Amino acid sequence: MDGASYGRYKSLAGEWRLDGGGVLEVVRAQSDPFAPPSRIAVHLGGEEAGFPAALTETPVRRRALASYLARRARAELRAPFRVDAGGQQVLDRASCQVGADGSVTLRLGAELPGRGRRIDGRAAERALCRALPDAVDRALYHDALDAKDVQRFVDTVEDTDALRRALPGLGLVAFVAEGAILPRASGVDDRPLGGGRAVPFTAPPELRTEIELPHAGRVSGMGIPEGVTLIVGGGFHGKSTLLRALEAGVWDHVPGDGRELAAARADTVKIRAEDGRRVQRSDVHAFVDHLPSGGDTADFSTENASGSTSQAASLVEAVEAGARVLLIDEDTAATNLMIRDARMQALVAKDREPLTPFVDLVRSLHRDRGVSTVLVMGGSGDYIDVADRVVMMDAYHPEDVTARARALAETPTGRTAEADAFPPVRHRVVDPASVDSAGRKGRSRIRPHGTDGLTFGEQDIDLRSVEQITDPGQAVGIGLALELAVRRGHLDGRRTLAAALDLLDRDLAAGAAGLLRVRDEDFAVPRRHEVAAALNRLRSLRVSGLRDAGA
Ligand code: ADP
Ligand code: MG
Repeated sequence: MDGASYGRYKSLAGEWRLDGGGVLEVVRAQSDPFAPPSRIAVHLGGEEAGFPAALTETPVRRRALASYLARRARAELRAPFRVDAGGQQVLDRASCQVGADGSVTLRLGAELPGRGRRIDGRAAERALCRALPDAVDRALYHDALDAKDVQRFVDTVEDTDALRRALPGLGLVAFVAEGAILPRASGVDDRPLGGGRAVPFTAPPELRTEIELPHAGRVSGMGIPEGVTLIVGGGFHGKSTLLRALEAGVWDHVPGDGRELAAARADTVKIRAEDGRRVQRSDVHAFVDHLPSGGDTADFSTENASGSTSQAASLVEAVEAGARVLLIDEDTAATNLMIRDARMQALVAKDREPLTPFVDLVRSLHRDRGVSTVLVMGGSGDYIDVADRVVMMDAYHPEDVTARARALAETPTGRTAEADAFPPVRHRVVDPASVDSAGRKGRSRIRPHGTDGLTFGEQDIDLRSVEQITDPGQAVGIGLALELAVRRGHLDGRRTLAAALDLLDRDLAAGAAGLLRVRDEDFAVPRRHEVAAALNRLRSLRVSGLRDAGA
């Protein structure tokens, strides 16, 4: 093909046997050098790849092994190939899949070599017939790998997963092992803070819990119980760093990350203020009532939410989508939604203040709705009255100061509670026609902007405040999941959003395989919570019906 017009690459589409074993599949050849990269897959049979059954027996082990293999392949391959192997998190991703039979599929992008609009046949030959098969030989076969290193990777992920699954049975929302390294290298570098500067985590005796894990054995650490947990402490003492570790605790991490044994329940969602966001028919009346504009806050919409209403809507939406643990940091929360102290209550009468602060709702949220909260609040003592536990960060070491806080709470602040119950959330029915991934040319258009956003059809979804999205691949995964939810009729215009998410969860549980049916592309599988958060930020979203809880 050397010198032929670029379009002839298309004739490579199909399966090619590799001499050393395995099959190279050209899934999609690009039509010109400037089109999105071609898609290539390499398939190895289970016996060929040779991984012992112990490494491929369960979905978790397969996910971990696949992540390991993708990282190996990335290390072996250079341009024109690109392997999407991810960062510190071990996510289920399209780039590598291990089947229950031990088979291995590596999916990668390649910019097929050209000179202008002509095929560079020699370069293509070097890449496809030599570099790729060589890399496959070195990266995807059990025999070629350091068996101990593979085992350690898989065991690490299995331990984190087991830890996370054990939490509900122990009445915990999160657990951080002693010795964990929580601070990161920098705000833009997710690797652990190095150079001996990180202070390893320690557990206060009152909260020390031991958990038996399949590989690490008995580990000791701080268990955060269900209920309302307040994290206090001076500025720079490590409060936000702890909370961020809990946010990231819904994901598994690579060995050496420092957060391998810092886990939060899978239904943990970070909430923050996000002024300017759109809100579609959210029931925020628990937080907001009698607006000066006279709007109905049980059916509240806006194109431009304030800090407080955006946070109220995000919180209610998270609960609607199934969150059972909420994380809130004072650094990113709307103060007037969080607190209203005695003096302000005296100065501004209740009927002049539309907002009910979270401090008066957080207890009922747990007692009546079963949703726990972990809250960082160093700037106001009012939460001491409503917290089940108070943890103080002191020079990066947590201390249980619940007893001291209780003693302080004996002296009344003069505040009066402004609410006594968090009402059941109202469920929304989404109009599927308003969730359209088609671009102007009619073809589906899903493109990430790092972890900050997503082009979905004709719109950009702002994901900057959906902070648990940890990998650009998840943004693509969210887009594909939304498309799948519409295509498969999960969003059918009758079912509630929560019921549609239950159905979507089954597709997501099948891992990347489910979303690969939408499109062969690089992506990572998101949680239902991030899919729902993105949907709620889609500017075209229409809610066609509301259902009261129990109805
Ligand atoms: P706070 O929220 O209490 O003001 P942060 O969590 O933002 O404090 O932490 C302040 C600084 O201390 C950050 O630069 C963070 O990386 C660093 N830090 C946090 N925890 C540790 C730790 N365990 N060891 C070393 N540095 C830490
Ligand atoms: Mg902070």
